[in-house]
Amino acid sequence: MRLLRTQCVVAGGGPAGLMTGYLLARQGVEVIVLEKHADFLRDFRGDTVHSSTLELFHELGILDELLTRPHQKIREALITISGQDFKVADFGKLPTQCKYIAMMPQWDFLNCLAVAARKYPNFKLLQSTKAESLIEKEGKIIGVKASDKDGLFTIQADLTVGADGRDSKLRDASGLEVEDRGAPIDVFWMRLPRTSTKETESLGQVGAAGFLVQLNRGDYWQCALPFQKGAADVIRAEGLEAFRQRISAIAPELSEAALVLTSWEQVKLLTVQVNRLKTWWRDGFLCIGDAAHAMSPLGGVGINLAIQDAVAAARILGPALLTDTTDTKHLAQVQKRRVWPANITQKAQILAHKYVLVPAINTKTAPRPPFVIRLLNKFSVLRGIPARAVGIGLRPEHWQEPD
Ligand SMILES: Cc1cc2nc3c(=O)[nH]c(=O)nc-3n(C[C@H](O)[C@H](O)[C@H](O)COP(=O)(O)OP(=O)(O)OC[C@H]3O[C@@H](n4cnc5c(N)ncnc54)[C@H](O)[C@@H]3O)c2cc1C
Repeated sequence: MRLLRTQCVVAGGGPAGLMTGYLLARQGVEVIVLEKHADFLRDFRGDTVHSSTLELFHELGILDELLTRPHQKIREALITISGQDFKVADFGKLPTQCKYIAMMPQWDFLNCLAVAARKYPNFKLLQSTKAESLIEKEGKIIGVKASDKDGLFTIQADLTVGADGRDSKLRDASGLEVEDRGAPIDVFWMRLPRTSTKETESLGQVGAAGFLVQLNRGDYWQCALPFQKGAADVIRAEGLEAFRQRISAIAPELSEAALVLTSWEQVKLLTVQVNRLKTWWRDGFLCIGDAAHAMSPLGGVGINLAIQDAVAAARILGPALLTDTTDTKHLAQVQKRRVWPANITQKAQILAHKYVLVPAINTKTAPRPPFVIRLLNKFSVLRGIPARAVGIGLRPEHWQEPD
């Protein structure tokens, strides 16, 4: 069997895996990132790049390169409740270079990271290559078995990172215990044509017929329709006409745009999970990003948390890998640093599922805007609070080149 040897092997070329690979390579660590797909072209994987992530790109000197790629800027968040617009967040006063959230296709974001990482000869990205299982010796993980078009091969490594997302194969193989925190919703995602030229637009609508997320993506709307978990087949059985009417009932101005939906192929089901690992590591092995804590799409914070995990991991583990002193205490340090923001963010998502999303999708009457929303709409100074919570989040990580 073919055998490769490296200092760190990372399973998963998503936000967490690529950022880890890039930052380790930048410090001089030999790293191999495995990505099971041939490219990064996957729709509806979440396209929000928050101010904290943009700030990080600025610190790394690759922000200008990132912003040459197509994106839209959300400077102010609006939500429409029973036909009336409410301003809920203003990113304009954030203490960051970019006072906005960038909506960028995830493949552009990941391609930018891959291009930056490939400048280091000690970085290798193996696409169309799947991590299959962990290799264990005397209780320690010493690498992975992987497969590509030529079959199975072995990669031996001082450290194996599981950044293979919420259905992580390596996490399952490690035997680490996953705690399911429950998610009461699933989501249908679709693209609808957009003709409006308004600068600021609502990010979503809540009405008597339910809730629709509606993101301006230039010439199309990226729409998300949340519904009660497990009800996808019931909705599909009602037929496409009923589905289009469901959209029109929430957002009448999208009635015409919804006519483009002529096949269920255009409507992607994304099952929502919220879970977390009790312990993120074993000797020689660490999980980060969704593999350690699968996030709900609510707030669009998952990519940004995955990136922050990667920064903390690379900052703590890079010097140890370089000096061949990686130890379980370093792995525990990564968890200690990142578990708190992940945990609190998940708690906030669970509360928002229960008290905001579920009532919004089950409502039968035109909802009244909650007091907090009216308050935010009235006082612009208050809109900086949700902007900071979403745009920067808890415990943002920064990058300083290690000595
Ligand atoms: C419906 C939905 C919408 C969302 N929208 C947003 C949003 O707008 N903004 C936001 O910030 N977050 C969003 N999220 C959350 C976000 O997608 C995740 O939190 C984030 O992508 C996690 O990054 P990651 O790198 O940990 O994992 P992933 O992005 O899942 O990346 C894992 C990578 O590993 C690869 N892989 C998997 N298994 C293997 C294997 N065995 N071998 C090799 N490679 C493998 C996968 O192909 C993938 O490229 C959304 C989530 C859902 C479910």
